[in-house]
Amino acid sequence: MQKRILITGAAGFLGSHLSDRFIAEGYHVIGMDNLLTGNLANIEHLFPLENFEFYHHDVSKFVHVPGKLDYILHFASPASPIDYLKMPIQTMKVGSLGTHNLLGLAKAKKARILVASTSEVYGDPQVHPQKEEYWGNVNPIGPRGVYDEAKRFQEAITMAYHTFHGLETRIVRIFNTYGPRMRLNDGRALPTFFRQAIEGEDITVFGDGSQTRSFCYVSDLVEGIYRLLLSDYALPVNIGNPQEISIKEFAEEIIEFTGTSSKIVYKPLPKDDPQQRQPDITKAQNILGWQPRVSRKEGFIKTYAYFKEILEKNKTLV
Ligand code: UDP
Repeated sequence: MQKRILITGAAGFLGSHLSDRFIAEGYHVIGMDNLLTGNLANIEHLFPLENFEFYHHDVSKFVHVPGKLDYILHFASPASPIDYLKMPIQTMKVGSLGTHNLLGLAKAKKARILVASTSEVYGDPQVHPQKEEYWGNVNPIGPRGVYDEAKRFQEAITMAYHTFHGLETRIVRIFNTYGPRMRLNDGRALPTFFRQAIEGEDITVFGDGSQTRSFCYVSDLVEGIYRLLLSDYALPVNIGNPQEISIKEFAEEIIEFTGTSSKIVYKPLPKDDPQQRQPDITKAQNILGWQPRVSRKEGFIKTYAYFKEILEKNKTLV
């Protein structure tokens, strides 16, 4: 019998790629999104398909889905620092109330649920690279607290449903991910640097650029999530690319890749900006047989082509 999966945040960057993957695997996909940061353009190619349906709904409110459900992927949330600064209450609600609603739905439908957690649960980490056993260093009342604490609550309540109700749950801790369908204006380093490079603007590096991140291409992430969902492992698993780079070097790499004449300018470092971030992926390797395959060069080629296309389209609209 055909499997039915609910994907929240389906019109977003990750949700739309996951929708594509599960459609390709032969699932019936029910997408849900309140379109706060999601964009229907990301999934409009799925609308004509018989195996896809879409609900415009905010999962912070009671969620009703008719029929059986085998799986739920909870990917709805503002996810960039700029977004959750602008929408702190919605961010907290979707991670807490939204997760609670979806756990309740999973229980009622006897479905397996996978929730999207984040490397932000580690805060500004004092352990490097970050292993799943590390508890993190989070400022609950700082600007990132609304996201970090909502995601920490999400993990806690998900484990509570697992241990108390015996619900089948999965928790993925997602590290920085990039690729086509990322929003150009979400304030993140990668789309911002690419847009600045394409438009010949200064590249805005925050602080002295010595802070590090590790960037994973979206198809690698989707493969990791797919394997985790189908595994029998209920504890959190890091999925990300361990290739770490400083933000200054990253900006230089994008300047070289695009051949732009843009120059780096330095801006103040936002409060509580993590100094270093690199996933320890031993668990994903051992349990899921997963590791990233796409190099930054390869990922850049696809992402750059997408950003250029979007910027061209915007120009012709003006
Ligand atoms: N950053 C930057 N310039 C920008 C946007 C971001 O230097 O225009 C920095 C940011 O301060 C952080 C890193 O790039 O240290 C990655 O930021 P991003 O927003 O992509 O994600 P984060 O990993 O901080 O959630």
